[in-house]
Amino acid sequence: MPTAEATAAVLERYEAVIGVEVHCQLKTASKMFCSCSTAYDGARPNSHTCPVCLGLPGALPVMNKRAVELVMATGAAIGAQTPAATRWDRKNYFYPDLPKGYQISQYDLPLASAGRLTFDTSEGPFTVQITRAHLEEDTAKLVHGEGPNGERLSLVDFNRSGVPLMEIVTEPDIRTAEQARRYGEELQLLLRTVGASDADMERGQMRVEANVSLRPRGTEAFGTRVEVKNMNSFRSVERAVAFEIERQAALLDAGETLRMETRGWADDRGETYHMRSKETSDDYRYFPEPDLPPLRVDAAWLAEIRADLGELPAARRVRYEEALGLSAYDAAVLVADADAGRLFEATLAAAPGLDAKPVANWVTGDYLRLRNAAAEPVSVDPAQLARLVALVGEGTINRSSGRDVLDAHAATGEAVDAIVARLGLRQISDAGALGSVVDEVLAANPAAVADFRAGKGQAIGFLIGQVMKATKGQANAAVATAAIRERLGADGGGK
Ligand SMILES: [Zn+2]
Repeated sequence: MPTAEATAAVLERYEAVIGVEVHCQLKTASKMFCSCSTAYDGARPNSHTCPVCLGLPGALPVMNKRAVELVMATGAAIGAQTPAATRWDRKNYFYPDLPKGYQISQYDLPLASAGRLTFDTSEGPFTVQITRAHLEEDTAKLVHGEGPNGERLSLVDFNRSGVPLMEIVTEPDIRTAEQARRYGEELQLLLRTVGASDADMERGQMRVEANVSLRPRGTEAFGTRVEVKNMNSFRSVERAVAFEIERQAALLDAGETLRMETRGWADDRGETYHMRSKETSDDYRYFPEPDLPPLRVDAAWLAEIRADLGELPAARRVRYEEALGLSAYDAAVLVADADAGRLFEATLAAAPGLDAKPVANWVTGDYLRLRNAAAEPVSVDPAQLARLVALVGEGTINRSSGRDVLDAHAATGEAVDAIVARLGLRQISDAGALGSVVDEVLAANPAAVADFRAGKGQAIGFLIGQVMKATKGQANAAVATAAIRERLGADGGGK
């Protein structure tokens, strides 16, 4: 397995040219051209089928308008253009998972073209140009197994056949494995925000393929392209692309020529493997689909979809950083993690005027720590979190007690004020009440007092520790420090 350092060395000699193709299942209730339900997860094979999605002769497709709208919304979100009129095309090829012998797709008039997506990487922001996004139908699923007599057989499950699928293709703009991963992550976030797809890679709702080639630095011509597929996580995308860059560089260094091929990613072995050769580009003999009318996209329809888009991830990060003053890290976490983002927004909504920064700290720090460690879903009431942030902010309880309160609230749902009272966590901030404790501590520790007076500033740390001990950790440290300094005289030693 190549290391990141090795890839960096390779990338000094070669430039990687990477394009990414994503297929994602659209979030519609019914299939693309029939009324069969798309909720087939866990269902009996071939239970969600009809003559249309089984490809029976004479069955006529009817377009799912919602699927078209989800592609239009995705197009609008990536700043793409949508043509005033488009149509459906047949992509002809034979495979057992495609009963009609063709897939209904879009060829030269995709619903979205010329978009872009910008995201952060460890080397700064990066923009990928998106060539196109079009709509098509998913294929059936082949299940390979063993028959009753031990014979090998392949079965076809048509439940997935005809599910609306969006294909999104980038320009070959990507140069590193990290950029490929980050593109996938940002696209997933966008698809979820727009509501186009749940885009769960492990469930096959989002499938990522990378086309990888190398060329010597400083040259223009593209090298031989290898398609890599079967990556089921973004981490796999990054590892597979890094591996492929290394593998191709080693072959080129040895004076060998690469062949055009499709390779799969074996996650357990950490390497790509040959799947099939691609001697020539496929000829799908596209032609317009005669069973479906052309599709008109009028300006009012498109405007309506644009108006419904809501706040996109990039705009939300900018708002968090610029209007709310959050760090880039907190903004990125809150936008990427839908659950954390919801809690953050709901907490601010529950307490207008509450400073957003400590709320963000509590959510991205303590809340996520709790949630990620818990086996069961963790429930934090936004109004209670707002109360907790306020109590810590005004010094009623200290930060570390606050953490205990959050844990207790998440475990039982008990109100924050009740927990503070029950556990006696209220800090002693009253100068009078703390003053008598300070007097006792000073009287009991003459050596430390003498040290402080002799200029040993660190002695005050010991004295504060004694005050904390005497109050069982409930003293407000700032008030206690001020009280000690006042009694020992402001000029009485180290500051
Ligand atoms: Zn059907």
